[in-house]
Amino acid sequence: MLQFNDLSFWEKQAITEGIDFAVIGGGIVGIACAIELRKLHPKAKIVLLERGYLSTGASTKNAGFACFGSVTELADDLKTMNESAVWDTVAMRYEGLKRLQERFSPQQIGLKINGSWDLLTQHEASSKQAFDDKISYFNDQIKRITGEDNCFSYDNDIAAKCGFQGIHGGYFNRLEGDLLTGNLIHASNMLLAQHAISVLNGIQVEQVTDSSNQVIIQTNFGELKTAKVAITVNGFAQSFLKDKRVLPARAQVLVTSELSSAPLPGTFHYQKGYYYFRSVGNRILLGGGRNLDFEGETTTSFEQTPLITNALIHLLKEHIIPNESFQIDYQWSGIMGVGNEKKPIIELTSKNIGIGVRMGGMGVAIGSLVGEELARKLN
Ligand SMILES: Cc1cc2nc3c(=O)[nH]c(=O)nc-3n(C[C@H](O)[C@H](O)[C@H](O)COP(=O)(O)OP(=O)(O)OC[C@H]3O[C@@H](n4cnc5c(N)ncnc54)[C@H](O)[C@@H]3O)c2cc1C
Repeated sequence: MLQFNDLSFWEKQAITEGIDFAVIGGGIVGIACAIELRKLHPKAKIVLLERGYLSTGASTKNAGFACFGSVTELADDLKTMNESAVWDTVAMRYEGLKRLQERFSPQQIGLKINGSWDLLTQHEASSKQAFDDKISYFNDQIKRITGEDNCFSYDNDIAAKCGFQGIHGGYFNRLEGDLLTGNLIHASNMLLAQHAISVLNGIQVEQVTDSSNQVIIQTNFGELKTAKVAITVNGFAQSFLKDKRVLPARAQVLVTSELSSAPLPGTFHYQKGYYYFRSVGNRILLGGGRNLDFEGETTTSFEQTPLITNALIHLLKEHIIPNESFQIDYQWSGIMGVGNEKKPIIELTSKNIGIGVRMGGMGVAIGSLVGEELARKLN
């Protein structure tokens, strides 16, 4: 393929020369950032650089949960993070979901706020009282953030309603929902085009250097110069950040063959959010199991492992669809960006370079907000 130097006058003039803003990474955050930059700078030349022929991280590979926090995960977060950071992060996710809904109609992205359940098995029922004791405090915090009363309640009947086996019940979150990730990809691409943002796929950025009056971007097709850069590469941020604040975290997912049972009424979390499942048509999409091998899953390699595949299949057979025979029709993995804290990093790393990374497992929710805030920081 041609190097940038070998492009025509027209190509250089229209796209690669005189760039005002380059956004590196074509996931939810990069797209939100580019759109916000366009709103702030109607006449600017904005170019989005993505290394894959499709976005190749998490945004096109996720489960499509529009979520901001489940009871067992929040309880766990409160053990490891300080209280205000936990609720600030929940607030950012909720605000991110609102921003996503400002950009796209529910019909465009298949968004339904049907509620979610955070399941407890019969074996885990002995820990229920400890969670019950937190519910009114959690509801107060969610009311403070969202203005909505009684977000969480315990549903004793969900197992019977859905045909689950060995499940005691689940904490219902009435404000969460799900969307269709494929629809979000389409709608995002349309929006980038409408906002006259040039998207260059297949561009692997190797180095970014701020020389104060401009930024030099080294890529697999040569050098680009721009006034400012937004780096939104999430789980692949190590080489740009030079520290361990963001680590890659692989997440594995599978989708069953079509089932005879009715689709589930919403989304489901299990074991502090380490497992998650929902219906997609008549199939079940199930992901998780990273907690079985944290070390092995700290990787940017897109693979599936027998350990996690078997654990997911076991969960399906034991608890979720015990009375159905099924095949695994689709299987994949994606790469998230995680760290000691769940709060995203949105900061300038030099005068003209900003970074928006560490979305954790809820980037569908928080990503739009992070992208927009990064764009404003680069202003
Ligand atoms: C299996 C799975 C399930 C998930 N489920 C949910 C869910 O249900 N709900 C939820 O809220 N969140 C979920 N998440 C998390 C969510 O998808 C992410 O937090 C979010 O998509 C992160 O968006 P991003 O734009 O920061 O990163 P990404 O989508 O990873 O985008 C980063 C982009 O940068 C590109 N890139 C990397 N390095 C370079 C380079 N050097 N040069 C050029 N381009 C580069 C990558 O190719 C990639 O496209 C899930 C994640 C996974 C993996």
